[in-house]
Amino acid sequence: MSFDLNKFQEIKTPFYWYDVDLLEQTLKCVKENADKYGYNVHYAVKANGNLGILRKMKEFDFGTDCVSGNEIKQSIAAGIDPKKIAFAGVGKSDEEITIGLENGIFCFNCESIPELENINSIAGKLGKKADVALRLNPNVHVSTHHYITTGIEENKFGINEWDFEEVIAALQNMENVNLIGLHFHVGSQILDMQDFRNLCVRVNELQEWFYAHNIIVDHINVGGGLGISYTQPNEEPIPAFAEYFKVFAETLKLRPKQQLHFELGRSLVAQCGSLITKVLYVKRGVNTKFAIVDAGMTELIRPALYQAVHKIENISSNLPSERYDVVGPICESSDCFAKGIDMAGTKRGDLLAIRSAGAYGEAMASTYNLRTLVKGYFSK
Ligand SMILES: *Cc1c(COP(=O)(O)O)cnc(C)c1O
Repeated sequence: MSFDLNKFQEIKTPFYWYDVDLLEQTLKCVKENADKYGYNVHYAVKANGNLGILRKMKEFDFGTDCVSGNEIKQSIAAGIDPKKIAFAGVGKSDEEITIGLENGIFCFNCESIPELENINSIAGKLGKKADVALRLNPNVHVSTHHYITTGIEENKFGINEWDFEEVIAALQNMENVNLIGLHFHVGSQILDMQDFRNLCVRVNELQEWFYAHNIIVDHINVGGGLGISYTQPNEEPIPAFAEYFKVFAETLKLRPKQQLHFELGRSLVAQCGSLITKVLYVKRGVNTKFAIVDAGMTELIRPALYQAVHKIENISSNLPSERYDVVGPICESSDCFAKGIDMAGTKRGDLLAIRSAGAYGEAMASTYNLRTLVKGYFSK
């Protein structure tokens, strides 16, 4: 990760900064490791829908995984081939389904019978056929923050095992829907490879179940979720892609001609992005000093929403380190980026870099407190 302090003088803070060299190195590493096994990678646009990021995905020939009609439109605007766009989400509107059908996307990942019925009916009206995958809830527990698990029975996501028979019976009567795949996604920020191995074992079992019911699909989609190092972004700038894909190659049983798909979001873009913010005031607290900065939960909500930890550096200072709470200007007590961290001696006007913010940062920004929506800038 590199910072261009001269350029930063000309940009109004706070802003997102994307290191394009690191992004390219990361995407190259993903591509090489996925190509080894002939795997298909779809970038999960919700992690960061910035057009500059999407154009890079196109450059590396990735598809996308979209969770809204606007993400489909943005992918196409970036030049992504519609035949590489998967459309997921538990609540797709009629308008969004129409966008998907009219653009001839690769696949709708479906989560319920009423959704399948609706897609079947809209496709019929448009004189189209919809290719669909069933998003199955694999009921695999993973070690990550509770708010970002998605593949256990209590989550709203996916079709649960007790409904499988009913779903395949219902599909028999849907003329405008082709079942082409099975889809899974167990959560996010997963660092323990055993969690992915457990997912593979479940996929193998569930494939057997469908096979026994005379269903063989061409596509298996195992979602995303690979985590990154938030505590050591300098030491571990690129996630363990080689190890990750190897788990699937070793554990997942594909049938002849079956294609394997991945939907990686965070792991592709988190480390290349930093939120750059200016220190407005420093004031004394009980055991620490408060560094009050001009970015808040409106620019980066992860600490407030998921108790996420981001490394924070003062990129303007070489002074000996002191203890700080780094807090934002928003009128919420949860508007705090870090408590009791050691950081170089900080004064008004210094720039801080909040690291590993390329995923679920700019994408989750809001205008709460009527703030101006934050922008992203690229290093080249
Ligand atoms: C969010 C999401 C992803 C991407 O998750 P990451 O943890 O960012 O890799 C992939 N697939 C689905 C269905 C998702 O909802």
